[in-house]
Amino acid sequence: TEVLVEVDDLKVHFPIKRGVFLDRTVGHVKAVDGVDLRIEKGRTYGLVGESGCGKSTLGRALLQLTKPTGGRVNFDGTELTTLPPKQLRQMRKRMQMIFQDPMSSLDPRQNVESILTEGLQAHGIGGDRTERRKLIAKTLDAVGLPQWALSRYPHEFSGGQRQRIGIARAVVLNPELIVADEPVSALDVSIQAQVINLLGDLQEELGLTYLVIAHDLAVVKHISDTVGVMYLGGLVEEASSDDIYRRPLHPYTRALMSAVPVPDPEVEDRRERILLAGDLPSPANPPTGCRFHTRCPWAQPTKCRDDRPSLRIIGTGTHRVACHWAEQIETGEIRPHAVKA
Ligand code: SF4
Ligand code: MG
Repeated sequence: TEVLVEVDDLKVHFPIKRGVFLDRTVGHVKAVDGVDLRIEKGRTYGLVGESGCGKSTLGRALLQLTKPTGGRVNFDGTELTTLPPKQLRQMRKRMQMIFQDPMSSLDPRQNVESILTEGLQAHGIGGDRTERRKLIAKTLDAVGLPQWALSRYPHEFSGGQRQRIGIARAVVLNPELIVADEPVSALDVSIQAQVINLLGDLQEELGLTYLVIAHDLAVVKHISDTVGVMYLGGLVEEASSDDIYRRPLHPYTRALMSAVPVPDPEVEDRRERILLAGDLPSPANPPTGCRFHTRCPWAQPTKCRDDRPSLRIIGTGTHRVACHWAEQIETGEIRPHAVKA
């Protein structure tokens, strides 16, 4: 398979400003701090982690909506981080974004037709008015919205339909990559599956490549080919969707997994519940060594505190884990210490 997106040592560090004129930089928030990943053409990469772990910033940096402060982003052979603004604008239509809350990302004063026309005009797609209308009609069909939606405004739709408008706005431009940031987090659980299925159908029909960002492992489970788990600006584990659910190796992934509700109420839930100590530390002042050591039930003296583990392949496949003790934890050689709830 072909790689569409290649991210190499990506960093987004925001300066923390102090002083009367905010002219002193006293430190940096390391929102994204050295991430490597690849997304294959026509596939879905699911990126999960708690809010504040840097996953949205990573998604935006990938599309250059937030300027990376280090590293590279290669899109279909073109290096984006050094691309002049004019060329970047031309690349933009090939990469679109879907947001968590369609209500705040759709202009309430624009009807659906004008929302969809705007992007086409901005990118010079769709020819004359008749052709544009045909394209828009086709797009409405594809996302499961009725044609009468054209003259309606965002507030006239339900949350799920509004997200379909957000998806239509992205898809009408015929992009290759879509970054979907928490695309179903604001929706009722009953609607979430419909929107996820729609994304899957559109991928098949249009050959789309996705980066789907979520804080909930259950959301990305069915749609993702590869899943990456982020903690405090870095990837701690990456594997095929099957592997990460069947064999989570990083203590943080195991903790996230233990919080995923069991889908079948008839089946007794025998999984371990892993409780994490404390809150997510500040990315302005992350822990030394393994960034998870302040909360990790398996943390070992000195090494976990002092040495930052890098993402390494475990076994023979593509499963990558950033933990010094992944093997010993899996075999049970190292046991978790109790954490007070
Ligand atoms: Fe836990 Fe240590 Fe592994 Fe980090 S390196 S996840 S602190 S056991
Ligand atoms: Mg976010």
